[in-house]
Amino acid sequence: MSYSQEMYGLGSQGSEIREIFEYGRRRKAEIGADKVFDFSLGNPSVPTPQAVTDAMIDILSTAEPTAVHGYTSGAGDMACRTAIAEDLNARYNCGADPALIYMTCGAAAALCCSFRALATEDADEFIAFAPFFPEYRVFCDTNGGKLVQVMMRENDFQIDLSLLDAAVNERTKGVVINSPNNPCGVVYTEETIRGLAAYLEKKQAEYGHPIYLITDEPYRELVYGGAVVPFVPNYYDNTIVCYSYSKSLSLPGERIGYALVSPKAADAKAVYAAICGAGRALGYVCAPSLMQHVITRCAGVQPNLAPYEENRRILLEGLTGAGFTCVNPDGAFYLFMKSPEPDAHAFAAKAKEHELLVVPCDSFGCPGYVRIGYCVSKETIEGSLPGFAALAKEYGLS
Ligand code: PLP
Repeated sequence: MSYSQEMYGLGSQGSEIREIFEYGRRRKAEIGADKVFDFSLGNPSVPTPQAVTDAMIDILSTAEPTAVHGYTSGAGDMACRTAIAEDLNARYNCGADPALIYMTCGAAAALCCSFRALATEDADEFIAFAPFFPEYRVFCDTNGGKLVQVMMRENDFQIDLSLLDAAVNERTKGVVINSPNNPCGVVYTEETIRGLAAYLEKKQAEYGHPIYLITDEPYRELVYGGAVVPFVPNYYDNTIVCYSYSKSLSLPGERIGYALVSPKAADAKAVYAAICGAGRALGYVCAPSLMQHVITRCAGVQPNLAPYEENRRILLEGLTGAGFTCVNPDGAFYLFMKSPEPDAHAFAAKAKEHELLVVPCDSFGCPGYVRIGYCVSKETIEGSLPGFAALAKEYGLS
């Protein structure tokens, strides 16, 4: 065989979300963009904050081109890492150290580096709570780890420590959490994080080796109704934060984020060096320079949440009013809806007949649910409601 079957499989299958999105594009060309209600992608609909655009223009028009477009140091420009650490320390008083921040192309690269850095030759296990971002399996399993799935508690989607306990063993190298969560929108409470931290402390002591908490936080700033996202390194020492500005600053195409090792982690410097090594091995060194310059100036810029908050309210009221059952999300920009029939794919196919494009959550490890991304225009949300109402009637929900 002249190429890897594993990579061929990954490259030729593509993601289901992308397939739905591509279908939506074709369908819009056929019947008109305003008649198709595409809730598939997690592309922010809120414009990039003006401060970010202004910084980009100013940097491009005033800075020395070689300084803007040249390679930065492999781990990222120190001014950028310092700005990030200062912002985190101001907000969370967490002792973040620029020397332990590695700039990456978004959270995806930060996650890949983290798995690759931690996995030893023994196929170490990493536990993720379902529902989870489907790419975790790819990122983990192609970087030396083995992803193990544990369900979240179904009534409130918090972490059930008894389910976790059934999965943890001596090979457990890490636990991955994502709060606010894609796809269910849940924000882990402080009680959940404290409970998880205490449990992992106990297990580390029992096994005599660290268990790392990898906290994937691209939605950290996207919370509603006063919900608070606990900053995980303040609760558990062996933490690696994987962050991205894709969602908070509406910059997904610019690919900028970081991996941060908590200064309190065991062997923090060595783990950080391993992340740098993983970045090197994967060819990820030197994240986009222009974006690092932008983050140096804009690390503390906060998103405008009002449009998401309004979309969320209109959609939630419309769907629950029609008879659907939804998880009431505190964060991110997805609504997690129970499929009225056990097969979420069959339900998504029926929704498609009403030009409603929703994502079945089987690949997120949670069959029987669909994800509805409300990072779309308000017109799309409002225009979709008659279709959802008709769909609910078909299922006898109203
Ligand atoms: N983690 C989660 C939970 C996500 O939803 C996404 C993107 O949608 C990522 C990671 C990847 O983020 P990025 O595009 O910044 O690499």
